[in-house]
Amino acid sequence: MSICGYAGKILRLDLATKAATAIPTEKYRRWGGGHGMGAALFWDLCKDKTITDGRHQANVCCVMTSPLNGTIVPSAGGRCEVVGVGVGMYPISWFTRSGFGGRFSTMLKHAGWDGIVIEGKAEKPVWIDIRNDRVIFRDASGLWGKDTWTTQKEIWQMVGVPRGTKTAWQELARLDKDKKSAKDEGRFTQKPAVLTIGPAGENQTAHACLIHDAGNGAGQGGFGAVWGSKNLKAISVLGTGSIRVADAKSLIRARMVTKEKYVASSERPDFRAWTRLGTLPKPIIQVPPPTKDRRPQSCQGCINGCRTRYNVGYGNESACQETAWYGPYARKVAKNAAENTEINLKAADIVQQYGFNSFVFQTGLHWLEHLYEEGVLGPGRKIPSELPWKEIGTLNFAEKLVHALSTKTDIGKDMADGWVQAAIRWGREKDLETGALQFSYWGWPEHGYDPRAELEWGYGSIMGDRDTNTHCFNQIFTSVSAAFAFAMPIRIEAEEMVNLHARKLSPYAKGRPEVLDFSDGNMYSEAVAQLVRWQQHYCRFWKQSALFCDLKWPDFYNTNTPDLQGATASPDAGEQVFWNAVTGDKLSFEDGIELGRRIWNLDNAIWVLQGRHRDMVHFAPYVYQTKFEKGELFPFYMWPCRDEKGEWKYTDLMGRALDKGKFEEWKTTFYRLEGWNRKTGWPKRSTLEKMDMTFVADALQAAKRLGEEEA
Ligand code: SF4
Repeated sequence: MSICGYAGKILRLDLATKAATAIPTEKYRRWGGGHGMGAALFWDLCKDKTITDGRHQANVCCVMTSPLNGTIVPSAGGRCEVVGVGVGMYPISWFTRSGFGGRFSTMLKHAGWDGIVIEGKAEKPVWIDIRNDRVIFRDASGLWGKDTWTTQKEIWQMVGVPRGTKTAWQELARLDKDKKSAKDEGRFTQKPAVLTIGPAGENQTAHACLIHDAGNGAGQGGFGAVWGSKNLKAISVLGTGSIRVADAKSLIRARMVTKEKYVASSERPDFRAWTRLGTLPKPIIQVPPPTKDRRPQSCQGCINGCRTRYNVGYGNESACQETAWYGPYARKVAKNAAENTEINLKAADIVQQYGFNSFVFQTGLHWLEHLYEEGVLGPGRKIPSELPWKEIGTLNFAEKLVHALSTKTDIGKDMADGWVQAAIRWGREKDLETGALQFSYWGWPEHGYDPRAELEWGYGSIMGDRDTNTHCFNQIFTSVSAAFAFAMPIRIEAEEMVNLHARKLSPYAKGRPEVLDFSDGNMYSEAVAQLVRWQQHYCRFWKQSALFCDLKWPDFYNTNTPDLQGATASPDAGEQVFWNAVTGDKLSFEDGIELGRRIWNLDNAIWVLQGRHRDMVHFAPYVYQTKFEKGELFPFYMWPCRDEKGEWKYTDLMGRALDKGKFEEWKTTFYRLEGWNRKTGWPKRSTLEKMDMTFVADALQAAKRLGEEEA
């Protein structure tokens, strides 16, 4: 296939029969890539879309790239998307997603594959050895039980020349045991890119993720458990090809514009937010740094460098939550800042090695500590546990806790299906009413952005499948609250801030700054529904299918430009400029959002087949019953709101709960705008047909789950 940007084929693996076949990418081209293609493949290949646990043998897991992977598109070239039915959600584990960075997607494209579809269950543990077109199922019994880093190192050795014997080059031809019969296809200097599970995945626990290199992980979704249930330990890939782009000149020009005009750096910092400051997040999270000797590290092709490599040899590549989950506890026992940082970064390495999704600890570990302090959890107590609870904050406790939850030992036995499930098993449902357990939506924890304050995050999560984890707008909260917290000057006043955003909110909310007004009087409005729609549709295509990184895109406002306009949708370096330069398409920014709407509708159809009805779309009880009074990051939650005179001001959104009745009305508005039936939340035929998705309407009708047409 000669479609620019694509490798041309998708690898289909049937683990039960050990068959590796190729699907032409052309067949799925209309879905763009990444999530869109993965959802369409799932739709076609999953034989039972009513399954509600990703460990079911019918589950199909897709690891997908985009046309931009393997190219120089900034903050997009190295991301990868994983989809399938997840594990550990409540009450149903939905068809869901996760993503990770690094170099796996690039290597896969260079090997000639746009994605991997994983079906069936291997009889015994296997790992997959991909070298360009050649795909071999290999025995993983020697790797089973090993952590993610050891597994990768052993695969590097098996694929390459054993260390110390010749050079570090990988032999492309060594695909069978009989080296003499192997055709010599040359040598390659890069290590294979490996995606693997650790003990958490092998034991099929809800916290299990997929890990690549030191610290790139597909966290939420429980995809490590999905692989464990399929006896799939790892996929290794070596690729020596390249990706053809349609207009190299335009691509290079747009990248240079990005670098010169829009990108912040240590020399040219952008005050907005730590997630967009290249190498700057670490000093904020870990004050002071462990050493001056460290350097930024990026996913392939990215110019942001949001990760770090340290000369001390630990904490490498971990970012965000992995480096933060244990910090508050470590601070309690550390004698000084350096010791705190050391414990903190070593705790990051522990979760990476076990293949454990540290995000459950953001609010989950507070809950476990609460149970211990209340006297119900611990040695000889109602919830028995032999973990060294008195040592919380030490490295020993962190290791023992992650080990227990990864191996289904101690309290890990009760928690393997999810945290809300454990609360129910322990008779602790009341903790979901008080907020002691802040798992707000579908059994997933809050992400630090409370649904009672940050509406697009909360509403988007509950209308979707998991914590939305899309930072399109929440840079407003982090940057403004940080400015208040550290008494820094506010450089962009509230009205200017909302106007800068509203300029880019085409097609639903362009020029409508009121969509960002989260005040009490506007929080259940049609305007906020339009904002949630925009975010979900934008992300389904531009972030999760084209794979522009969430930590960098969209770029609404940018303090490096004289007019503060960010790169998003811009004619010089907007998302569509890169897409078109690579693919040769003539896609507009809005076309991408429309494609995202189509993908979002396909996802919703799968959720409906799994059993979704609007009656089950609600937050955990505490969101309605308990006021938001304690933030994860700051003692206030600053957001632009209009006052009674209609003037914009940064306002503290703490101190309120959601009104359940009004939120139900908001859901009705949202369903109406989406063209879904207002009573059921099921898609209507007329909506689907307008998007050329008659095949979805037919399937829903056959399952008696098509939304009725309404006036
Ligand atoms: S911003 Fe960070 S996570 Fe995103 S692509 Fe760049 S280096 Fe990777």
